[in-house]
Amino acid sequence: MKDSSIIEKVLCRRVYDSRGNPTIEVEVITKSGASGRAICPSGASTGNNEALEVRDNDDRYNGKDIKKGLDLIKNKISKLIVGTSCEDQSKFDKILKDFDGSDQKKLIGGNVSTSLSIANYLCASNLNNVPAFDFHAKSKKLKIPNPEIQIFGGGAHSGNQNSFQDFLIYPIDNFNYEEFLHNVYQILNHTKATLIKNNNFFGYCDEGGFFPNNINQFDICEIINESILKNKLTPGKDLGISIDVAASNLYSEGTYNLYNKFISKNELSNIFGKLIKEFNVSLIEDPFHDEDFESFSSLKVKNYGSVQIIGDDLTCSSSKLLNKAIKRNCIDGIIIKINQCGSVSEALETIELAKKHNIKTILSARSGDTEDVFLSHFAVAWDVDMIKVGSFSRSERTSKWNELVRIEENLK
Ligand code: PEP
Ligand code: MG
Repeated sequence: MKDSSIIEKVLCRRVYDSRGNPTIEVEVITKSGASGRAICPSGASTGNNEALEVRDNDDRYNGKDIKKGLDLIKNKISKLIVGTSCEDQSKFDKILKDFDGSDQKKLIGGNVSTSLSIANYLCASNLNNVPAFDFHAKSKKLKIPNPEIQIFGGGAHSGNQNSFQDFLIYPIDNFNYEEFLHNVYQILNHTKATLIKNNNFFGYCDEGGFFPNNINQFDICEIINESILKNKLTPGKDLGISIDVAASNLYSEGTYNLYNKFISKNELSNIFGKLIKEFNVSLIEDPFHDEDFESFSSLKVKNYGSVQIIGDDLTCSSSKLLNKAIKRNCIDGIIIKINQCGSVSEALETIELAKKHNIKTILSARSGDTEDVFLSHFAVAWDVDMIKVGSFSRSERTSKWNELVRIEENLK
Protein backbone atom coordinates (compact mmCIF):
# COMPACT_ATOMS: atom_id res chain seq x y z
CA MET A 1 0.00 0.00 0.00
CA LYS A 2 1.40 3.43 -1.01
CA ASP A 3 1.73 5.60 2.09
CA SER A 4 0.30 8.56 0.18
CA SER A 5 -2.95 6.67 -0.47
CA ILE A 6 -3.74 6.11 3.20
CA ILE A 7 -6.94 7.84 4.23
CA GLU A 8 -6.29 10.30 7.04
CA LYS A 9 -9.58 12.18 7.34
CA VAL A 10 -13.21 11.83 6.39
CA LEU A 11 -15.29 15.02 6.50
CA CYS A 12 -19.04 15.22 6.02
CA ARG A 13 -21.70 17.89 6.02
CA ARG A 14 -25.34 18.65 5.27
CA VAL A 15 -25.92 20.26 1.86
CA TYR A 16 -29.11 20.53 -0.20
CA ASP A 17 -30.43 18.88 -3.34
CA SER A 18 -32.49 20.40 -6.17
CA ARG A 19 -35.74 19.94 -4.22
CA GLY A 20 -34.16 21.75 -1.27
CA ASN A 21 -33.98 18.55 0.79
CA PRO A 22 -30.92 17.98 2.97
CA THR A 23 -28.41 15.51 1.59
CA ILE A 24 -24.95 14.25 2.52
CA GLU A 25 -21.66 15.57 1.17
CA VAL A 26 -18.47 13.65 2.01
CA GLU A 27 -14.78 14.45 1.59
CA VAL A 28 -12.18 11.71 1.78
CA ILE A 29 -8.64 13.04 2.36
CA THR A 30 -5.36 11.09 2.30
CA LYS A 31 -2.12 11.59 4.22
CA SER A 32 -0.60 13.18 1.13
CA GLY A 33 -3.44 15.73 0.92
CA ALA A 34 -5.26 14.20 -2.08
CA SER A 35 -9.01 14.46 -1.69
CA GLY A 36 -12.30 13.48 -3.29
CA ARG A 37 -15.70 15.02 -2.65
CA ALA A 38 -19.18 13.74 -3.51
CA ILE A 39 -22.83 14.60 -2.85
CA CYS A 40 -25.51 11.91 -2.78
CA PRO A 41 -28.56 12.51 -5.03
CA SER A 42 -32.06 11.34 -4.08
CA GLY A 43 -34.97 9.72 -5.95
CA ALA A 44 -38.72 10.44 -5.73
CA SER A 45 -40.05 7.43 -7.62
CA THR A 46 -37.97 4.82 -5.84
CA GLY A 47 -37.98 1.07 -6.45
CA ASN A 48 -39.17 -1.25 -3.65
CA ASN A 49 -35.83 -3.01 -3.63
CA GLU A 50 -33.39 -0.14 -3.77
CA ALA A 51 -30.99 0.87 -0.99
CA LEU A 52 -32.89 2.82 1.65
CA GLU A 53 -32.06 6.36 2.66
CA VAL A 54 -31.33 6.99 6.32
CA ARG A 55 -33.34 10.08 7.32
CA ASP A 56 -34.01 11.42 10.82
CA ASN A 57 -37.83 11.26 10.73
CA ASP A 58 -38.09 14.00 13.35
CA ASP A 59 -39.49 17.53 13.28
CA ARG A 60 -36.73 19.11 11.18
CA TYR A 61 -37.03 19.34 7.39
CA ASN A 62 -40.30 17.35 7.45
CA GLY A 63 -38.39 14.39 8.84
CA LYS A 64 -35.93 14.44 5.93
CA ASP A 65 -32.87 15.64 7.82
CA ILE A 66 -29.75 13.48 7.60
CA LYS A 67 -28.05 14.21 10.96
CA LYS A 68 -28.24 10.50 11.87
CA GLY A 69 -26.22 9.71 8.74
CA LEU A 70 -23.66 12.44 9.46
CA ASP A 71 -23.25 11.13 13.05
CA LEU A 72 -22.78 7.59 11.75
CA ILE A 73 -19.98 8.76 9.46
CA LYS A 74 -18.30 10.93 12.11
CA ASN A 75 -18.56 8.55 15.04
CA LYS A 76 -18.45 5.06 13.55
CA ILE A 77 -17.67 4.65 9.85
CA SER A 78 -14.72 7.06 9.63
CA LYS A 79 -12.94 4.97 12.31
CA LEU A 80 -13.17 1.91 10.04
CA ILE A 81 -11.97 3.78 6.97
CA VAL A 82 -9.16 5.98 8.28
CA GLY A 83 -5.89 4.07 7.84
CA THR A 84 -7.04 2.10 4.76
CA SER A 85 -5.99 2.88 1.18
CA CYS A 86 -8.30 4.93 -1.03
CA GLU A 87 -6.96 2.90 -3.97
CA ASP A 88 -8.68 -0.27 -2.85
CA GLN A 89 -12.26 0.58 -3.82
CA SER A 90 -13.59 -2.97 -3.35
CA LYS A 91 -12.17 -3.14 0.17
CA PHE A 92 -13.57 0.32 0.96
CA ASP A 93 -17.05 -0.65 -0.26
CA LYS A 94 -16.87 -4.02 1.52
CA ILE A 95 -16.18 -2.25 4.83
CA LEU A 96 -19.41 -0.28 4.32
CA LYS A 97 -21.36 -3.36 3.22
CA ASP A 98 -20.17 -5.50 6.14
CA PHE A 99 -20.78 -2.75 8.68
CA ASP A 100 -24.32 -2.38 7.38
CA GLY A 101 -24.99 -6.11 7.07
CA SER A 102 -28.34 -5.86 5.22
CA ASP A 103 -29.47 -6.20 1.61
CA GLN A 104 -30.88 -2.69 1.36
CA LYS A 105 -28.37 -0.71 3.45
CA LYS A 106 -30.98 -0.49 6.21
CA LEU A 107 -28.51 0.54 8.91
CA ILE A 108 -26.21 3.05 7.25
CA GLY A 109 -28.44 4.02 4.31
CA GLY A 110 -27.68 4.16 0.60
CA ASN A 111 -27.17 7.90 1.03
CA VAL A 112 -24.32 7.44 3.55
CA SER A 113 -22.63 4.64 1.61
CA THR A 114 -23.02 6.26 -1.83
CA SER A 115 -21.50 9.59 -0.82
CA LEU A 116 -18.58 7.83 0.92
CA SER A 117 -17.98 5.38 -1.92
CA ILE A 118 -17.95 8.03 -4.67
CA ALA A 119 -15.80 10.43 -2.62
CA ASN A 120 -13.25 7.64 -2.13
CA TYR A 121 -13.20 6.83 -5.87
CA LEU A 122 -12.64 10.51 -6.73
CA CYS A 123 -9.93 10.74 -4.07
CA ALA A 124 -8.04 7.85 -5.70
CA SER A 125 -8.41 9.46 -9.12
CA ASN A 126 -7.04 12.78 -7.79
CA LEU A 127 -4.20 11.02 -5.97
CA ASN A 128 -3.13 9.50 -9.29
CA ASN A 129 -3.60 12.75 -11.19
CA VAL A 130 -5.92 10.98 -13.61
CA PRO A 131 -9.21 12.75 -14.41
CA ALA A 132 -12.19 10.73 -13.21
CA PHE A 133 -13.46 10.25 -16.80
CA ASP A 134 -10.26 8.30 -17.52
CA PHE A 135 -9.69 6.64 -14.13
CA HIS A 136 -9.78 2.82 -14.36
CA ALA A 137 -11.37 3.37 -17.78
CA LYS A 138 -13.20 0.31 -19.12
CA SER A 139 -12.36 1.04 -22.74
CA LYS A 140 -9.20 2.15 -24.54
CA LYS A 141 -11.25 4.44 -26.74
CA LEU A 142 -13.07 6.88 -24.47
CA LYS A 143 -16.26 8.39 -25.88
CA ILE A 144 -19.33 10.40 -24.90
CA PRO A 145 -22.16 7.92 -24.37
CA ASN A 146 -25.40 8.32 -26.25
CA PRO A 147 -27.25 11.17 -24.45
CA GLU A 148 -30.90 10.77 -23.40
CA ILE A 149 -32.48 14.09 -22.36
CA GLN A 150 -35.89 14.91 -20.96
CA ILE A 151 -38.35 17.09 -22.91
CA PHE A 152 -41.52 16.58 -20.84
CA GLY A 153 -41.73 15.43 -17.22
CA GLY A 154 -44.55 14.06 -15.14
CA GLY A 155 -45.46 11.47 -12.53
CA ALA A 156 -43.96 11.95 -9.08
CA HIS A 157 -41.85 14.79 -10.50
CA SER A 158 -44.80 17.04 -11.34
CA GLY A 159 -47.43 16.39 -8.68
CA ASN A 160 -48.80 13.80 -11.14
CA GLN A 161 -49.89 16.42 -13.71
CA ASN A 162 -48.94 13.92 -16.43
CA SER A 163 -49.13 10.24 -15.70
CA PHE A 164 -45.91 9.06 -17.34
CA GLN A 165 -42.77 10.38 -15.69
CA ASP A 166 -40.42 11.16 -18.58
CA PHE A 167 -40.63 11.84 -22.32
CA LEU A 168 -37.12 12.06 -23.73
CA ILE A 169 -35.12 12.13 -26.94
CA TYR A 170 -31.81 10.52 -27.88
CA PRO A 171 -29.73 10.12 -31.05
CA ILE A 172 -30.48 6.86 -32.85
CA ASP A 173 -27.04 6.38 -34.35
CA ASN A 174 -23.65 8.04 -34.49
CA PHE A 175 -23.97 11.55 -33.19
CA ASN A 176 -21.99 14.72 -32.83
CA TYR A 177 -22.43 15.88 -29.22
CA GLU A 178 -22.34 19.60 -29.99
CA GLU A 179 -24.91 19.15 -32.79
CA PHE A 180 -27.11 17.06 -30.52
CA LEU A 181 -27.14 19.82 -27.90
CA HIS A 182 -28.04 22.35 -30.58
CA ASN A 183 -30.90 20.12 -31.75
CA VAL A 184 -32.12 19.74 -28.17
CA TYR A 185 -32.11 23.52 -27.78
CA GLN A 186 -34.16 23.95 -30.95
CA ILE A 187 -36.60 21.20 -30.04
CA LEU A 188 -37.11 22.59 -26.52
CA ASN A 189 -37.81 26.01 -27.98
CA HIS A 190 -40.25 24.70 -30.62
CA THR A 191 -42.00 22.75 -27.87
CA LYS A 192 -42.20 25.74 -25.55
CA ALA A 193 -43.62 27.91 -28.37
CA THR A 194 -46.33 25.29 -29.07
CA LEU A 195 -47.25 25.10 -25.38
CA ILE A 196 -47.42 28.89 -25.07
CA LYS A 197 -49.57 29.11 -28.23
CA ASN A 198 -51.98 26.56 -26.73
CA ASN A 199 -52.06 28.29 -23.32
CA ASN A 200 -50.48 25.16 -21.91
CA PHE A 201 -47.11 26.33 -20.62
CA PHE A 202 -47.08 25.91 -16.86
CA GLY A 203 -43.38 25.63 -16.12
CA TYR A 204 -40.88 22.88 -15.43
CA CYS A 205 -40.99 19.75 -13.34
CA ASP A 206 -38.27 18.32 -11.06
CA GLU A 207 -35.93 17.28 -13.87
CA GLY A 208 -36.48 20.41 -15.95
CA GLY A 209 -38.93 19.04 -18.56
CA PHE A 210 -42.17 20.86 -19.39
CA PHE A 211 -45.37 19.85 -17.70
CA PRO A 212 -48.57 20.71 -19.55
CA ASN A 213 -52.13 20.28 -18.32
CA ASN A 214 -55.02 18.26 -19.73
CA ILE A 215 -53.16 16.53 -22.53
CA ASN A 216 -52.21 12.86 -22.54
CA GLN A 217 -49.20 10.74 -23.53
CA PHE A 218 -50.26 10.71 -27.23
CA ASP A 219 -50.60 14.52 -27.38
CA ILE A 220 -47.23 14.93 -25.67
CA CYS A 221 -45.53 12.57 -28.11
CA GLU A 222 -47.21 14.34 -31.03
CA ILE A 223 -45.76 17.68 -29.89
CA ILE A 224 -42.29 16.10 -29.60
CA ASN A 225 -42.60 14.55 -33.08
CA GLU A 226 -43.68 17.92 -34.53
CA SER A 227 -40.82 19.75 -32.80
CA ILE A 228 -38.30 17.26 -34.19
CA LEU A 229 -39.77 17.67 -37.68
CA LYS A 230 -39.74 21.48 -37.37
CA ASN A 231 -36.03 21.12 -36.71
CA LYS A 232 -35.70 19.29 -40.04
CA LEU A 233 -34.93 15.94 -38.45
CA THR A 234 -36.85 12.69 -38.70
CA PRO A 235 -38.25 11.15 -35.53
CA GLY A 236 -37.43 7.45 -35.35
CA LYS A 237 -34.57 7.90 -37.81
CA ASP A 238 -32.38 10.74 -36.51
CA LEU A 239 -33.78 11.00 -33.01
CA GLY A 240 -35.49 8.34 -30.95
CA ILE A 241 -38.28 9.11 -28.51
CA SER A 242 -38.19 7.33 -25.17
CA ILE A 243 -40.54 7.23 -22.21
CA ASP A 244 -40.12 6.36 -18.56
CA VAL A 245 -43.52 5.18 -17.38
CA ALA A 246 -42.27 4.73 -13.79
CA ALA A 247 -45.29 2.44 -13.57
CA SER A 248 -44.93 1.54 -9.87
CA ASN A 249 -46.00 5.10 -9.18
CA LEU A 250 -49.27 4.52 -11.10
CA TYR A 251 -49.99 1.03 -9.78
CA SER A 252 -52.36 0.00 -7.05
CA GLU A 253 -54.16 -3.32 -6.47
CA GLY A 254 -54.05 -4.66 -10.02
CA THR A 255 -54.73 -1.44 -11.94
CA TYR A 256 -52.81 1.53 -13.29
CA ASN A 257 -54.10 5.05 -12.73
CA LEU A 258 -53.71 7.01 -15.96
CA TYR A 259 -55.11 10.53 -15.68
CA ASN A 260 -57.57 9.29 -13.04
CA LYS A 261 -58.81 6.42 -15.18
CA PHE A 262 -58.02 2.96 -13.81
CA ILE A 263 -56.82 0.57 -16.51
CA SER A 264 -55.55 -3.01 -16.67
CA LYS A 265 -52.04 -4.04 -17.67
CA ASN A 266 -53.42 -5.22 -21.04
CA GLU A 267 -54.93 -1.81 -21.72
CA LEU A 268 -51.62 -0.23 -20.71
CA SER A 269 -49.81 -2.57 -23.07
CA ASN A 270 -52.12 -1.47 -25.91
CA ILE A 271 -51.20 2.15 -25.19
CA PHE A 272 -47.54 1.19 -25.57
CA GLY A 273 -48.38 -0.48 -28.90
CA LYS A 274 -49.92 2.77 -30.19
CA LEU A 275 -47.01 4.89 -28.88
CA ILE A 276 -44.55 2.61 -30.67
CA LYS A 277 -46.45 2.27 -33.96
CA GLU A 278 -47.81 5.80 -34.32
CA PHE A 279 -45.51 8.06 -32.30
CA ASN A 280 -42.01 6.67 -32.88
CA VAL A 281 -41.42 5.59 -29.27
CA SER A 282 -38.49 3.20 -29.37
CA LEU A 283 -37.42 2.77 -25.76
CA ILE A 284 -39.73 2.20 -22.78
CA GLU A 285 -38.50 2.26 -19.18
CA ASP A 286 -40.43 0.59 -16.34
CA PRO A 287 -43.60 -0.12 -18.37
CA PHE A 288 -45.10 -2.10 -15.48
CA HIS A 289 -44.72 -2.04 -11.69
CA ASP A 290 -41.51 -3.29 -10.18
CA GLU A 291 -42.66 -6.75 -9.04
CA ASP A 292 -44.23 -7.69 -12.39
CA PHE A 293 -41.34 -9.42 -14.18
CA GLU A 294 -43.87 -11.43 -16.19
CA SER A 295 -45.44 -8.40 -17.92
CA PHE A 296 -42.02 -6.97 -18.76
CA SER A 297 -41.22 -10.26 -20.40
CA SER A 298 -44.50 -10.48 -22.37
CA LEU A 299 -44.02 -6.93 -23.68
CA LYS A 300 -40.45 -7.76 -24.69
CA VAL A 301 -41.59 -10.91 -26.48
CA LYS A 302 -44.53 -9.09 -28.12
CA ASN A 303 -42.10 -6.31 -29.21
CA TYR A 304 -44.29 -4.23 -31.50
CA GLY A 305 -41.44 -3.43 -33.90
CA SER A 306 -38.06 -2.75 -32.44
CA VAL A 307 -38.85 -1.22 -29.06
CA GLN A 308 -36.34 -1.72 -26.26
CA ILE A 309 -37.55 -2.41 -22.74
CA ILE A 310 -35.54 -0.87 -19.91
CA GLY A 311 -35.54 -1.82 -16.23
CA ASP A 312 -35.12 0.83 -13.54
CA ASP A 313 -37.30 0.23 -10.46
CA LEU A 314 -37.51 -3.39 -11.66
CA THR A 315 -33.77 -3.95 -11.31
CA CYS A 316 -32.63 -1.22 -8.87
CA SER A 317 -29.03 -1.39 -10.20
CA SER A 318 -28.66 -4.72 -8.38
CA SER A 319 -26.76 -7.62 -9.97
CA LYS A 320 -29.11 -10.04 -8.19
CA LEU A 321 -32.22 -8.46 -9.73
CA LEU A 322 -30.50 -8.07 -13.09
CA ASN A 323 -29.76 -11.81 -13.05
CA LYS A 324 -33.43 -12.49 -12.38
CA ALA A 325 -34.46 -10.15 -15.23
CA ILE A 326 -31.98 -11.84 -17.61
CA LYS A 327 -33.22 -15.34 -16.72
CA ARG A 328 -36.82 -14.27 -17.38
CA ASN A 329 -35.97 -12.38 -20.58
CA CYS A 330 -37.48 -9.14 -19.26
CA ILE A 331 -35.28 -6.32 -20.49
CA ASP A 332 -33.02 -5.01 -23.24
CA GLY A 333 -31.43 -2.34 -21.07
CA ILE A 334 -30.88 -1.33 -17.47
CA ILE A 335 -30.80 2.02 -15.69
CA ILE A 336 -27.87 2.36 -13.30
CA LYS A 337 -28.15 4.79 -10.39
CA ILE A 338 -25.32 4.40 -7.89
CA ASN A 339 -27.44 5.23 -4.86
CA GLN A 340 -29.93 2.50 -5.81
CA CYS A 341 -27.33 -0.10 -4.87
CA GLY A 342 -25.22 2.14 -2.62
CA SER A 343 -21.65 1.86 -3.86
CA VAL A 344 -19.36 2.21 -6.86
CA SER A 345 -18.30 -1.46 -6.64
CA GLU A 346 -21.87 -2.74 -6.65
CA ALA A 347 -22.82 -0.45 -9.56
CA LEU A 348 -19.78 -1.64 -11.52
CA GLU A 349 -20.61 -5.29 -10.82
CA THR A 350 -24.10 -4.74 -12.28
CA ILE A 351 -22.70 -2.90 -15.31
CA GLU A 352 -20.23 -5.72 -15.99
CA LEU A 353 -22.99 -8.31 -15.77
CA ALA A 354 -25.18 -6.27 -18.12
CA LYS A 355 -22.39 -5.90 -20.68
CA LYS A 356 -21.70 -9.64 -20.55
CA HIS A 357 -25.32 -10.31 -21.51
CA ASN A 358 -25.60 -7.54 -24.12
CA ILE A 359 -27.95 -5.52 -21.97
CA LYS A 360 -27.77 -1.80 -22.75
CA THR A 361 -26.34 0.20 -19.81
CA ILE A 362 -27.81 3.64 -19.03
CA LEU A 363 -26.24 5.69 -16.25
CA SER A 364 -28.88 8.00 -14.82
CA ALA A 365 -29.21 11.10 -12.63
CA ARG A 366 -31.88 11.19 -9.88
CA SER A 367 -34.81 13.57 -9.72
CA GLY A 368 -33.33 15.17 -6.59
CA ASP A 369 -29.83 15.97 -7.82
CA THR A 370 -27.10 18.51 -7.24
CA GLU A 371 -24.29 20.41 -8.94
CA ASP A 372 -22.04 17.36 -8.52
CA VAL A 373 -20.86 16.07 -11.91
CA PHE A 374 -19.43 12.63 -11.06
CA LEU A 375 -22.13 11.12 -13.31
CA SER A 376 -20.65 12.63 -16.50
CA HIS A 377 -17.19 11.33 -15.61
CA PHE A 378 -18.34 7.83 -14.68
CA ALA A 379 -20.46 7.57 -17.84
CA VAL A 380 -17.31 8.03 -19.94
CA ALA A 381 -14.89 6.02 -17.76
CA TRP A 382 -17.27 3.09 -17.40
CA ASP A 383 -18.07 3.03 -21.10
CA VAL A 384 -21.84 2.87 -20.63
CA ASP A 385 -24.11 2.96 -23.67
CA MET A 386 -26.22 5.95 -22.61
CA ILE A 387 -26.40 8.75 -20.06
CA LYS A 388 -29.87 9.88 -18.95
CA VAL A 389 -30.24 13.37 -17.47
CA GLY A 390 -33.03 15.94 -17.24
CA SER A 391 -33.46 19.09 -19.26
CA PHE A 392 -31.59 22.36 -19.89
CA SER A 393 -33.81 24.51 -17.68
CA ARG A 394 -32.25 23.41 -14.40
CA SER A 395 -28.61 23.92 -13.51
CA GLU A 396 -28.17 20.62 -11.66
CA ARG A 397 -29.03 18.93 -15.01
CA THR A 398 -27.19 21.37 -17.29
CA SER A 399 -24.08 20.88 -15.12
CA LYS A 400 -23.88 17.24 -16.31
CA TRP A 401 -24.29 18.19 -19.98
CA ASN A 402 -21.73 21.01 -19.59
CA GLU A 403 -19.21 18.70 -17.92
CA LEU A 404 -19.50 16.35 -20.90
CA VAL A 405 -18.64 19.33 -23.15
CA ARG A 406 -15.43 19.80 -21.13
CA ILE A 407 -14.67 16.09 -21.10
CA GLU A 408 -15.18 15.83 -24.87
CA GLU A 409 -12.49 18.49 -25.42
CA ASN A 410 -10.05 16.15 -23.72
CA LEU A 411 -11.00 13.15 -25.83
CA LYS A 412 -10.04 14.75 -29.15
C1 PEP B 1 -36.20 7.68 -12.84
O1 PEP B 1 -37.16 7.01 -12.48
O2 PEP B 1 -35.59 7.35 -13.85
C2 PEP B 1 -35.76 8.84 -12.04
C3 PEP B 1 -34.70 9.56 -12.39
O3 PEP B 1 -36.53 9.16 -10.99
P1 PEP B 1 -36.16 9.16 -9.46
O4 PEP B 1 -34.79 9.71 -9.28
O5 PEP B 1 -37.23 10.00 -8.83
O6 PEP B 1 -36.23 7.72 -9.02
MG1 MG C 1 -36.97 5.50 -14.14
